[in-house]
Amino acid sequence: MSKYCIGVDLGGTNITIALIDLKGKIKNKVKISTQAGKNAGFVIKTIIENIRVLIRDVRFSQLVGIGIGAAGQIDQARGVIQFSPNLHWRNVPIVKEIKQEFNLPVYLDNDANVACYGEFLFGAGRGAQNILCITLGTGVGGGIIINNKIYRGAGGAAGEIGHITVESKGRKCNCGNRGCMEAYVGAPHIRERCIEKIKAGRKSIITRIVEGSLLKITPKVLEEAVFYKDKLAQEIWQETGMYLGVGLASLINIFNPEKIIIGGGIANAGTLISVPLLKTIKERALAVSLQDVKIVRAKLGEEAGVIGAAMLVLSA
Ligand SMILES: [Zn+2]
Repeated sequence: MSKYCIGVDLGGTNITIALIDLKGKIKNKVKISTQAGKNAGFVIKTIIENIRVLIRDVRFSQLVGIGIGAAGQIDQARGVIQFSPNLHWRNVPIVKEIKQEFNLPVYLDNDANVACYGEFLFGAGRGAQNILCITLGTGVGGGIIINNKIYRGAGGAAGEIGHITVESKGRKCNCGNRGCMEAYVGAPHIRERCIEKIKAGRKSIITRIVEGSLLKITPKVLEEAVFYKDKLAQEIWQETGMYLGVGLASLINIFNPEKIIIGGGIANAGTLISVPLLKTIKERALAVSLQDVKIVRAKLGEEAGVIGAAMLVLSA
């Protein structure tokens, strides 16, 4: 009889819970709203109820364990979510609480690490042993796999690829520092860079596309503007790819990875971002590391997190 792991992808907006076989195939899944405003006890109870529904048709002996990927700072060894700004949680011992309900092994890691692990095992990282993942969204998430294992660092904080410095006196980042890669390539920062240039007098079709409300500028709008050969939009993408390339070139020199996997909504811009990105990497990364690395798009989409979370059970 098939064996299964349960994956839980606990984000600030949604929770995805899935029953997954040992080859990473999803047998059944459910996606619910997180209701982050409610307390941790309420959210954990909702997770438990949904796991119960998912495992109704399988025997206990078929279940191997439960893996959770959660947004925020995680004490992986103790199974505690220390601080999650998206969930407004502090020191929640989620592993203990779920373990006592199901009498199965339960593991926890942060959402970026598990998404990277999912891609590593069953997505774009398949077959490689050393990879970096970068997810381009509102923020910029990162994950590192070294010799087939998630690299967590001394205190579990490794992999913050978005906060690598790309301009020493650059734009202000949400982390409080200046010039982080996220402050150039995170979606709200791409918009801000664009608004600044429009306010400085640059003419662009973008203003017409968003009917004058500049806060409606999204990466999608910038893609559309390029379609109409808009110079400003082309410049924004060019700079975005360049800054991403500056950050990734340093990572290539440090880690000598086989693959760098790029996911998230902004990766949909395709060649708009990949052309300047690859050009910058070629200019900046050391030749010896450059020859080993492939830059590839993520394959599993939003399911990477829940699949990787489930597979924590087998990695332990
Ligand atoms: Zn930062």
